[in-house]
Amino acid sequence: MKIAIVGSGYVGLVTGACFSEVGINVVCVDIDSKKIENLNNGIIPIYEPGLEDMVVRNMKKGRLSFTTNIAEAVKECEVLFISVGTPPDEDGSADLKYVVSVARDCGKNMEDYLLVVTKSTVPVGTSEKVRKAIQEELDKRNVAIEFDVASNPEFLKEGAAIADFLKPDRIVIGLDSPKAEDIMKSLYKPFTLNGHPTIFMDIVSAEMTKYAANSMLATKISFINDIANLCELVGADINLVRRGIGSDTRIGHKFIYPGIGYGGSCFPKDVQALIRTGDDYKYNLRILKAVEEVNNDQKTIIFDKIKKYFNGDLANKTIALWGLSFKPQTDDMREAPSLIIVKKLLEAGAKVNVYDPVAMKEAKHHFGDSVTYFEDQHEALIDADCLAILTEWPEFKFPSFKIIKKLLKSPAVFDGRNIYDKAEMKQNDFDYFCIGVDTQK
Ligand code: NAD
Repeated sequence: MKIAIVGSGYVGLVTGACFSEVGINVVCVDIDSKKIENLNNGIIPIYEPGLEDMVVRNMKKGRLSFTTNIAEAVKECEVLFISVGTPPDEDGSADLKYVVSVARDCGKNMEDYLLVVTKSTVPVGTSEKVRKAIQEELDKRNVAIEFDVASNPEFLKEGAAIADFLKPDRIVIGLDSPKAEDIMKSLYKPFTLNGHPTIFMDIVSAEMTKYAANSMLATKISFINDIANLCELVGADINLVRRGIGSDTRIGHKFIYPGIGYGGSCFPKDVQALIRTGDDYKYNLRILKAVEEVNNDQKTIIFDKIKKYFNGDLANKTIALWGLSFKPQTDDMREAPSLIIVKKLLEAGAKVNVYDPVAMKEAKHHFGDSVTYFEDQHEALIDADCLAILTEWPEFKFPSFKIIKKLLKSPAVFDGRNIYDKAEMKQNDFDYFCIGVDTQK
């Protein structure tokens, strides 16, 4: 069986690589010709552990190829996955123009039965739009060719995308045809042999599942951040409270770490899109509106703490930042808290030194010449007035506090991810600030 993956970004590239890894013949398509040229030369556009090896290995085996020619890909394949971007429109709803454009390409070029699977995160009703667009193009050609549509939302996590795809917690598939069900079962068989469940459902429920999952995770983060802020005021320690509540098996320890807000390409836009869907159906999603509000405020909390420490005057202060990506193990900076924090620091007249283990190239697209880049985490501290940790990269977790103290002008550390221990920082004579703990008591 030959499959096509249209949209070769995070999701498309990982999906294509993983399907080819289990022996399926895959062609990945993208409209970005530079990206395709690079991929054909083994140059991977993103940082994702294990991806480069897998792509290069499967290209050599002849099971994975890259093209900009969607017409050819549609003609050759039996299943086509749509994994193009669905960025937020001006009103927060998902912009479906890329998805619909791929559906039209399918209708314009298919010659035989085609199963069109939407893997992009799309609002309820999108698969019907895909079906309609394909049918319209077939009608224009005056041909009758059988096709099915399905929804197969993707749950991979950036930074662990390969492992998540190969060993998924679950695979969700929405469809309405037995033929499509047989095809999807056989495609995913290699990934479900060791018991990972495939959950079949109707298409609308599958589309809803993805938004509900991301919104639930975003809710957990905003909830713990809200509680953390209150802990700080009442004198409780969120690190202890988190352990206390997480050990309740109904709650669990995952996704209740306080910090400086969620970012990335999914949570912010998916929460917004679901709120918008609620509005479209005249249902006010009150919890999600609060989740978003808390998150927006949380992104400035480290800036507020730094400003307060320097008595409101950041002019000519140099602030060193460790970590720029929205989370560790990725160079993705979409909606990262660092974008807001750097902007606020610069507006306040501060100079900003930055270091990130993998996101420096990406950072240059965002910050240009407005900040100073360092290839070494310690060099970023030379002559800086304080250090702020924005991403919990493993290499920041056990630093030499002696070196940090020696290099900084004032011994101030702002820990946006609670990776250091309050007592140890006190022992080392740091002015230490984190989230949800009154460290000055
Ligand atoms: P991305 O921006 O990394 O990649 C999208 C790709 O689609 C780009 O390379 C773009 O050039 C290409 N494209 C756009 N229009 C095209 C067209 N008409 N034909 C061919 N290619 C086209 O996006 P992503 O992060 O991979 O996300 C894709 C979708 O998957 C989104 O809906 C996103 O919400 C969802 N998703 C993302 C993640 C994640 O962690 N990144 C996880 C789960 C789901």
